[in-house]
Amino acid sequence: METVTRFAPSPNGPLHLGHAYSAIVAHDIARERGGRFLVRIEDIDGARSRAEFAESALTDLQWLGLKWDGEAIRQSSRIANHADALDRLKAMGLVYPCTCTRAQIAAAASEVGPDGPVYPGTCRHAGTDPDAPAAWRLDMAQAMALTGPLTWIDELAGEQEARPDLFGDVVLARKDAPGSYHLAVTLDDARDGITLVTRGADLFASTHVHRLLQALLGLPVPRWHHHALLVEESGEKLAKRRGSPALSDRRAAGEDGLALAADIRGGRFPDGLSLSGLEIGRENP
Ligand code: GLU
Ligand code: ZN
Repeated sequence: METVTRFAPSPNGPLHLGHAYSAIVAHDIARERGGRFLVRIEDIDGARSRAEFAESALTDLQWLGLKWDGEAIRQSSRIANHADALDRLKAMGLVYPCTCTRAQIAAAASEVGPDGPVYPGTCRHAGTDPDAPAAWRLDMAQAMALTGPLTWIDELAGEQEARPDLFGDVVLARKDAPGSYHLAVTLDDARDGITLVTRGADLFASTHVHRLLQALLGLPVPRWHHHALLVEESGEKLAKRRGSPALSDRRAAGEDGLALAADIRGGRFPDGLSLSGLEIGRENP
C-alpha cells in the first residue's frame, strides 16, 4: 500500500524548529517509501487561528525545501463533514450536550487525564438543553462497550492497546466548531487517505481516542509514527518565548532554509536543542 503522510499545523502562531523537525520527518518518510506527503492547515479554531500564520507556515515549508503533493488542504473546508459525523454519533446516542465551564469541571474532577482534568460526568444524564451553549461529549463507557477492545500500531513503539478510557468523556464538538481536534483530525486523516499518521510523541495518547472514533464511524485504520520531540537543553518542551526564533524570523534574517533542513536531518539542532530520548509511548499509555 502506498504510504501517505501529512504535516498538519494549527495556524495559531508561527512555526518553530519543532514544527520543522516534524514536517521533515513526515516528508522524508513519504519520499523514502515512494509515497505522498500532504500538508493540512488545521484552521478550525476560530478564536486562535489566523490566515497570516497559515500563509507563513506554507512559506516556511518551501523555504526548508519541502514540497507537498497537491494543494495544501484547509481543515475549515471540511466542517460540514465534521458536522455530519457528529450527527451520526448523536443518532447513535453516543454523545450528549455539556454546559459545564472549565472551572466547574476542574472543581469537580478527581482524576487528570492526558488532556487535563477528566470530566466527572455531570451532564451525562442531566437532560441538558441541547440549544444552550454546549459542548458535545462522547459517552466513553457506552462507546467502548459498543466497539469492544481495540488496538493500534505505532511504527516505533509497536502495538498498543487502545485506552480511550484515560480521557473520560472527551469533547467531540463545541458550539463554535462542529469538530474538536480529536474528531476533526480523525475524519480528515481518513478523508485524505493518510496511511501513516506522523506527529510528535506529545500526541501519542490522543491516538487512543482517534482509534475509538475510527471504530465508531467505520473509518479506515492507518498506522502511526509518533516521533521524539525537540526539547530545550533543560529537557523542557520547546517554548517559543525562550531562545529559539520562529522559522519566519530565521527566514527574514536571511538564514538558509536548505542548510537548516540538512542540519536537522543530520541531528545538528540549533539553539542548544536536542531530541528528547523520552519514549512517551512506552512509558505512559
Ligand atoms: N494540528 C495539530 C497541532 O498543530 C496536530 C495534529 C496532528 O498532527 O495530529 O498540534
Ligand atoms: Zn457538563
